[in-house]
Amino acid sequence: MSVRPYRDIYRRKSRQIFVGNVPVGGDAPITVQSMTNTLTSDARATIKQILELEEAGIDIVRVSCPDEESTAALAEIVRAVNVPVVADIHFHYKRAIESAKAGAACLRINPGNIGSAARVREVVQAAKDYGCSMRIGVNAGSLEKHLLEKYGEPCPDAMVESALDHARILEDNDFTNFKISVKASDVFLAVAAYQGLADACDYPLHLGITEAGSLRAGTVKSAIGMGSLLWAGIGDTIRVSLSADPVEEVKAGFEMLKTLGLRHRGVRIISCPSCARQAFQVIKTVEVLEERLAHISTPMSLSIIGCVVNGPGEARETDIGLTGGGQGNHMVYLSGVADHKIDDAGIIDHIVRLVEQRAADIDAQALDTAPAL
Ligand code: SF4
Repeated sequence: MSVRPYRDIYRRKSRQIFVGNVPVGGDAPITVQSMTNTLTSDARATIKQILELEEAGIDIVRVSCPDEESTAALAEIVRAVNVPVVADIHFHYKRAIESAKAGAACLRINPGNIGSAARVREVVQAAKDYGCSMRIGVNAGSLEKHLLEKYGEPCPDAMVESALDHARILEDNDFTNFKISVKASDVFLAVAAYQGLADACDYPLHLGITEAGSLRAGTVKSAIGMGSLLWAGIGDTIRVSLSADPVEEVKAGFEMLKTLGLRHRGVRIISCPSCARQAFQVIKTVEVLEERLAHISTPMSLSIIGCVVNGPGEARETDIGLTGGGQGNHMVYLSGVADHKIDDAGIIDHIVRLVEQRAADIDAQALDTAPAL
């Protein structure tokens, strides 16, 4: 019995696949993905961007492979990065085969869109030979014509039917090493389609609200759509689609998972909006701290609260807390207990030092308690 049952999320039981060495589905942690927006044929630029995404904590990265130049660059990219690479293919079955040979960990391809049964067989064989998984990616904006005619417009049933049709093609080729997405830019449509698909199969699901929009609008929209699905236990891997730097997609993905307690990475900052009672500049302090603490991957919590109205209460629930006090005397809490006071000068450096120290302690403790191999 959980101590706080109101926080429990019961994840849908999906089968597990692997994208490279990263498990997706089953009891594996929900993974965070993004997609590069460099030219894949420009291996240097693509590698640089993937390394930046790795810094932000990405688990799996996707690159578009629209032409031969892209698949030609893929082998170099795969060699230079540490996370598994998914090759995004549309229609061109040869790009899929080239990508598999180049070391892609997964092929994002819809088998119903690549032509004859022989071509599908060739792609599946390449995936088997080179140890690739696949992602079937149904998109409301590009549903098959016969389904649009049958249903009149893109709707949840049409999307689920499309996904299951593609899945059947792979199953008929004795291939079940895949995950599925049913994305739409409309949250209602996407959520209903994912709910339908979650009931209809046990394949792992890749969540996304496609073409969600700008950094702010897209993050809110994705959080509503994907957040409600994750809360209901649906989803094994996620990608937030933003018209913004892909690093922002990774950050937004982790924030969603952290909010729901599904994944913990880095410093979770709790801060007040500030008001006339604030005893230091809360907004600026949080802004700078977020930047200065971005390199910390150890999960921990930090409360930055402008005054005693809410400061002590929040500090009790966090690893490190700062509460604004009168005459520039601010209280620092460690593990919920008031520990020492600091003045305005050097708030940032002081908190950064404390967080880094705590991260090192937590990491050392984890090493101590890890079972010997
Ligand atoms: S905690 Fe204090 S400073 Fe922050 S918003 Fe509330 S009353 Fe204002």
